[in-house]
Parts: sequence; structure tokens; C-alpha cells
Amino acid sequence: GQEKSDPTVEHVNVGTIGHVDHGKTTLTAAITKVLAKRGNASYVSYDSIDRAPEERRRGITINVAHVSYWSLLSGGRRRRYAHTDCPGHADYVKNMISGASQMDAAILVVAASEGEMPQTREHVLLAKQAGVSKMVVFLNKADLVDADVLELVELEMRELLDKHGLDAEKTPVVCGSARLAVAGDPGPLGEPAVDRLVAALDAYVEPPVRDEAPPFVMPVDNAFSVTGRGTVVTGTLVRGIVRRLDKVSLVGFDECRSTVVTDVQAFRESVPQAVAGDHVGLLLRGVPVRSVLRGMLVCGCDGDEGVLSVTNRFTAQLYLLSASEGGRQAPVRTGYTQQLFSSTWNLQARLDLTPAELDMLLPGDHATVGVTLLRKMPLLANQTFTMRENGVTVATGRLVTRLDP
Ligand code: GDP
Ligand code: MG
Repeated sequence: GQEKSDPTVEHVNVGTIGHVDHGKTTLTAAITKVLAKRGNASYVSYDSIDRAPEERRRGITINVAHVSYWSLLSGGRRRRYAHTDCPGHADYVKNMISGASQMDAAILVVAASEGEMPQTREHVLLAKQAGVSKMVVFLNKADLVDADVLELVELEMRELLDKHGLDAEKTPVVCGSARLAVAGDPGPLGEPAVDRLVAALDAYVEPPVRDEAPPFVMPVDNAFSVTGRGTVVTGTLVRGIVRRLDKVSLVGFDECRSTVVTDVQAFRESVPQAVAGDHVGLLLRGVPVRSVLRGMLVCGCDGDEGVLSVTNRFTAQLYLLSASEGGRQAPVRTGYTQQLFSSTWNLQARLDLTPAELDMLLPGDHATVGVTLLRKMPLLANQTFTMRENGVTVATGRLVTRLDP
């Protein structure tokens, strides 16, 4: 817990994204294995990363899909990475969006043997929309292809990043094999590839400026009960500072409940406080676990009223994806209702086109629309979201004005 207040330590939240089976979980295990050899991580095996979260809920521990590792920077500074690998089961995209909303940068994993696939594109879009502005590409399964294929996939990735407004030229691209690295292979595609990847993260990703001003805000990513102690909620602080014994509110899905934080846990240790950017577990007094839903916010009661407001109505700047971007073929009319994803929550949402006489929105159109959520949620200024229909992303948006419920 001491290093929390150590100015020579910086905290960066990262995670793996990309198409299923391209090697995200193997790479996550490989990073911890190789860095464990260097004394900069504890090894977390593939199996303990990929198990369903329900099986892992023991004690007050942070979701094990969050692994952590260290690197040494110049000038005696150290960096601690908190790394999320989304479990590859049913609610996959929901978890991915929720995970990405907590990342400062993403490791985009693409198997060189397959190249860009639908979820490679979708994850870049969703992560960018969730606020991830820097990515490092890991061209995985380089053991299966020739050098010219690697070059081609690298080009393809730079084009994809460019299309989504990321810095395609400066983005580091690292070739390797997560499978060889986790097996301890000393060849260039094995362990050294992991070292190159971490060096690329160190050099390319800067710790973002964290807003520590009140109110403290933490979207709930997960909740579980700890026998004899109560309910723990986990998540990453979006802003502010939370301290043990702070009075807080648990808000969302039409509910609002007052409670007290009786313990703050970071990296499995009790700490006196946590600040914006930290991934933590908060023990809440007198809150039954079944009353907590992912997507609720835990927030401080001492902040600027304008930061958060609870409503189910707002206006938004919306972009309807074109068919070639994987979006709808058909236009959208007033009353269009689908699932809206933002931060760690998702809800049914209805769109109303404005002005009212506007007949329809065509795929590829930008417009200002009215949004009505099925439940009242605490909303931040400029909050971003995506909408999905039949398992594909069809729209991206940004909140403009919060309206009275
Ligand atoms: P995820 O769905 O993206 O998390 O992918 P996994 O990490 O579960 O890997 C999917 C499959 O690809 C597994 O069978 C891995 O052993 C295999 N795999 C992962 N990395 C490599 C690699 O570098 N080379 C080869 N040949 N196979 C790999
Ligand atoms: Mg996986």
C-alpha cells in the first residue's frame, strides 16, 4: 500500500482487446510469466485468467482478470500496470466495453495467421468510443506465418487505426508469439517479444492526467459478498478520491442508497484511500449484494452538483454506422429502441429524432437526437456510448445535454 502515495510510481490501466482466439488470454499469461522472471510480476496462468468470474469470487480480491505487473522507467521511476483481459464467455462484448471504459490504453491483439477480423474492427471502434485513445498492436501467432504476411497485417492494422482517428503512424506494432513466450522460448518471437511489448507501452503510453477533484465517482464493474464482512463492489475510479469511512451514494437503475465505505482495497491490500485511475474494491456497509447492479455508480456526496445528474433523458450527438462499417442497412426512425452501452452499464434506450419532422436517419448520418433510457442513471457531462442491435454495433454517441426526467 505504501507505493500508492509514492511519487516515483505511476499507474497505468491497460488491457487486451481483439478477435476471439487471436491470443489475448495467452498473451496476458505470457506477460506475467516473462515479467515474473524479471521480478516484475506474479505469474498468472492461462486457466486462472480464463475461468468464469463466478468461480473466482473468493475473499476481498480484485477480479482476477485484472493482473498487474511493473516496469522500470528512466530516472528511477517505476510504473505499475493494471491489465484487464476480458473473459471469453457469454457476455463477451458487454464485458469488453465495460473493461475498455476503464483502460488508459489497449493492447490490440491480432493473429497474423488470420489478420483483421470482424471483432478486431469492432473492438477498436468500441474501445475508441469508450475513451481509449492509444493502442499498441501485438501481431500474435507470428510463428505461423512468413515475414511478408506479417508486413501485410501490420499495414492492415495501421489502416484500421487510421480509420478510427488513432495515430496510425506512431502506434507501435510488436510481432511475436504469445504461445512461445508463455512456453519460455528465448527466440525473438518468444520471451523477448513480451519485453518489446512492455517497452512499447512504457514509451508510447503516458499516464493520463487524473481528475482528483470531488465528487469521487466509481462505476461498479462487479459485486460480490464476503462472508462475515459484507458486500464488496469493484471498479476503477473515474475521478476524485475515496477514503475509508467516507459517506457515499450507490446510484443507478432508478435506485439511490446511502452507505459508508468501510474498507478500501487496492491490489488486494487495505489502503487508506484510492484516487482517480485506481482499480479498487470497496466494502460497503449494510448493502445486500443482490441490490447492487453492474453499472451503478458509487459516488461521493461532497461534489459539484453539475458533475453528475440522475436522469433517463438527454440529448446526444449520434453517428449511425454505415453498412460498410458493419452498421445497419436500413434507416432509423423516431422510436428506434435498442440496447445502449455506456461505462459499465447497458440499458434499453429509445431514440427520438429532432426536429420532430425529421423523417429518418440514414446509415452514415450524424445527428442530434433525443435519448430516453428505460431507467434513470447518473450521467456525467460528455459521457460517451454505443448502441448495438442483433449483436453488432450500429451507433456511437456522446451526451450533449441532460434533461429533466
Ligand atoms: P483469446 O480468445 O484471444 O483469449 O485467445 P487465446 O489466448 O485463448 O488463444 C486461442 C488459441 O490460440 C489457443 O489455442 C492458444 O494456444 C493459441 N495461441 C495463442 N497464441 C499463439 C501463438 O502465438 N501461436 C500459436 N501458434 N498459437 C497461439
Ligand atoms: Mg481469452
